[in-house]
Amino acid sequence: MEMHNLMEYEVKLNLDRLIEKKDVELNCSCKQCRMDIMAIALNSLPPKYVVSDKGLIYQRINNLNYQFNADVISALVKAIDIVNRNPRH
Ligand SMILES: [Zn+2]
Repeated sequence: MEMHNLMEYEVKLNLDRLIEKKDVELNCSCKQCRMDIMAIALNSLPPKYVVSDKGLIYQRINNLNYQFNADVISALVKAIDIVNRNPRH
């Protein structure tokens, strides 16, 4: 049995999407800055744990919930702003 926090996957997916669509501007898109952005965003979002016995079976239960996605994106935009202003390198 393994535990997974689905929020981690949502945050990563939405960050990749925002960058791809150029909806956000990253001063630096190196791995450290991306990980910092994800960590800051995740700290402000509630975790969504699931238990799986066959590795990760990812069910995007909340994908159709507009408010849920809006919360993830808003947390990401705030995190990007913080990292843009205070990069750790
Ligand atoms: Zn960087």
